[in-house]
Amino acid sequence: MKRRDFIKSAGAGGLVAGSLAVAAPVVHAAPRFKWKMVTTWPKNFPGLGTGANNLAKLITEMSGGRLKVKVYGAKELVPAFEVFDAVSRGTAEMGHGAAYYWKGKSEAAQFFAAVPFGLNAQEMNGWLYYGGGMKLWQDIYADFNLIPAAAGNTGVQMGGWFNRQINSVDDLKGLKMRIPGLGGEVLRRAGGTPVSLPGGEIYTSLQSGAIDATEFVGPYNDLAFGLYKAAKHYYYPGWHEPGTTLESMINKKAFASLPKDLQSIVMNACKVVNQDMLAEYTARNNAALHTLVTKHKVDLRQFPDDVLIKIKQLSDEVVNEIAAKDKQAKKVYESFKTFRDQAMAWHKVSEQSYMRAREL
Ligand code: CA
Repeated sequence: MKRRDFIKSAGAGGLVAGSLAVAAPVVHAAPRFKWKMVTTWPKNFPGLGTGANNLAKLITEMSGGRLKVKVYGAKELVPAFEVFDAVSRGTAEMGHGAAYYWKGKSEAAQFFAAVPFGLNAQEMNGWLYYGGGMKLWQDIYADFNLIPAAAGNTGVQMGGWFNRQINSVDDLKGLKMRIPGLGGEVLRRAGGTPVSLPGGEIYTSLQSGAIDATEFVGPYNDLAFGLYKAAKHYYYPGWHEPGTTLESMINKKAFASLPKDLQSIVMNACKVVNQDMLAEYTARNNAALHTLVTKHKVDLRQFPDDVLIKIKQLSDEVVNEIAAKDKQAKKVYESFKTFRDQAMAWHKVSEQSYMRAREL
């Protein structure tokens, strides 16, 4: 018997029979994945950047390390405003940012972050998860090879820091204010001059008088930034960002390559971070506002009603114009507006009426 024939017959008889008897379990090594998450935030930026860190950590932990996500701050892998394209083409599998940064890709995207006099955090989540908003968002991002998810919320922001009082609509005329996006466009229509400045230049510009006012986020971030040292008056409410939703975007192909359990972990981790960031902002804003008012003696002021009425009217104009720009934006705006009208009617008798009752 030649050696080769002997091995063959042994394989056919002895070895196969033996393996049947033992019935050894078939072990497949679970596939492991390493993902990059690019973000629009400076690395470790409080609240927003740390929220992205938290998301990566959750996915890595919940998957037992089968899906490891590494976070890259703005400029580490790609600049802040290239996050969308980087995830779209698969340079990174995941991104964290805010949808209003991508209005150049789709005008409708802005509704999924914040629009002036739009939805607050609670309402945004209601609209996205149970009011049809998420489906519209998915349809828009699908054209770019992306899957969106809500992944954080700042809650209602502050109106901003002002070096002079705003007592009437006329006081907005000639006001040079750092206020990006749609809020900036509203200010321009009210006679002011919106200025676009990166975060790092806000403080010195306000202190030197190069600008008269700035919006930023809310007490937690504003206190850490020291803005109370550069301007006297702290105005509310943040009409331009009533509950900004942060987003996670996932490359479609990368997502499809994951087994079902890891897909579920990714989407559910986004949901956890979406709620967790709002909880963090609520707690830290409460504490920071207290510090700003009691320790730093900040002059806290509400915008007068006639100012709010005027900027609301201008905001409606601006938002309606976006809706008129394309079919997608119109469809999203109609869903958004219907939800907002119903939420206003419900919240008038629920949240709003309770908050009023609590203060009596
Ligand atoms: Ca802001």
